[in-house]
Amino acid sequence: MKELRIVIIGGGAAGMIASIAAARNGAEVFILEQLPRVGKKLLATGNGRCNLTNANMNIRSFHGSNAAFALTALKQFDERAVMDFFEDLGIHCVIESEGKVFPASGQASSVLDVLRFEMAYLGVKEICDARVESITYGKKAFKIRVKDRDTITADKVILAAGGKANPGLGSNGSGYTLAKALGHNLIEPFPALVKLKIDAPYLKSLSGAKLNGEAAIEVDGKVLRQERGEILFADYGLSGPPIIQLSRTAGEQLRRGKKANIILDLFPEKSLKEIEDLLKRRTSLREYKPFDFSFIGLINKRFINVILKEAGISALQTPCKDITSDEIKVVARKMKRWVMSISATRSWSEAQVTAGGIDVADIDAETMESKIIPGLYFAGEIMDIDGDCGGFNLQWAWSSGYVAGLSASLNK
Ligand SMILES: Cc1cc2nc3c(=O)[nH]c(=O)nc-3n(C[C@H](O)[C@H](O)[C@H](O)COP(=O)(O)OP(=O)(O)OC[C@H]3O[C@@H](n4cnc5c(N)ncnc54)[C@H](O)[C@@H]3O)c2cc1C
Repeated sequence: MKELRIVIIGGGAAGMIASIAAARNGAEVFILEQLPRVGKKLLATGNGRCNLTNANMNIRSFHGSNAAFALTALKQFDERAVMDFFEDLGIHCVIESEGKVFPASGQASSVLDVLRFEMAYLGVKEICDARVESITYGKKAFKIRVKDRDTITADKVILAAGGKANPGLGSNGSGYTLAKALGHNLIEPFPALVKLKIDAPYLKSLSGAKLNGEAAIEVDGKVLRQERGEILFADYGLSGPPIIQLSRTAGEQLRRGKKANIILDLFPEKSLKEIEDLLKRRTSLREYKPFDFSFIGLINKRFINVILKEAGISALQTPCKDITSDEIKVVARKMKRWVMSISATRSWSEAQVTAGGIDVADIDAETMESKIIPGLYFAGEIMDIDGDCGGFNLQWAWSSGYVAGLSASLNK
């Protein structure tokens, strides 16, 4: 019997795992990758360590117009299945803080090595420097036009061309053009897991400073999400893990034309009253100290003047004995609720993932097959599903890629 020929467009995480699932099931599999080699983005993941999944998987860590769409694939090939899959290929998985899973080698390159070794063993044909320009769908087969190469035919196609995030690593949105040409709807993409631009006069003076605290995103007076950890200041705005995690919500709200603020709490574990009492104690300790000096040893020196000025204190060196309890209250409030206006997210080149993408309403959640073009499947970031930072985006690539590869190889 003639082998089923499956062509996968895109040699990222989703495309590679799809190729393995399909080839293990007996299909003849080709991967077309526009870059000189497959897996370039994978090498950059987890700061070169590859946070390949998360042991605390939860659908709440996924987003999109219909995030629940992801559930079926996430259940079919869950985080345990991902760890077993990689253990079987030779990657010893280590679970770190917040459930983040990494290869024990600490090298993203080892994840790519074992995937490519398995692909070669199964006879998957990698064709690199192969940029797909169009896909046409005839009665019996797909015709895939590749730049400066012969047209390739396929019984099934898996579109795993990624989104728009970090185009230097390959994905530049060309997958959307291919899918749209075949009638699929695109939910307007925007950068996620990205730094935030802030509108504030003091940023230059704080560039490079860090604080450990809580950041919340507030829209119309309502807190939408909050995260704790190290927050970094830069001349354009804010970064650091809590900010990256909040960036999707920020991008979504800005896109809706909403005014979104970041609220920083420098002492999330203390109440406002506790901070007021603490400041009162510190100012009464040596009443001759200048007010600004009384903050030395409590907060990073670089923040003192900025916070006092933001709190409306102009005479920073007033002796503590002359500071009123109202002034202390206002500074305490600023330390618990430092409001910053978000002007934008940083650009695609700095984003880790794409929010938005091909509308999942056009895709079957059980199989990842297009509801518009039978025989065409989707895998990975190209779809309107994105995850939080922490291994959730690769889990989506593995789950959806595995399901797409398997179902493409099963259905005639
Ligand atoms: C710096 C960085 C760090 C990250 N770290 C993590 C992490 O630690 N954990 C985590 O879970 N997620 C992480 N992510 C997100 C995660 O890497 C992606 O969500 C995931 O790799 C997406 O996989 P994919 O296969 O869907 O898409 P991609 O990896 O983007 O692969 C798509 C491939 O398709 C190719 N392609 C596109 N168009 C065409 C075309 N027309 N013809 C041929 N080929 C084409 C591209 O060149 C690319 O190689 C990180 C992302 C970045 C940018």
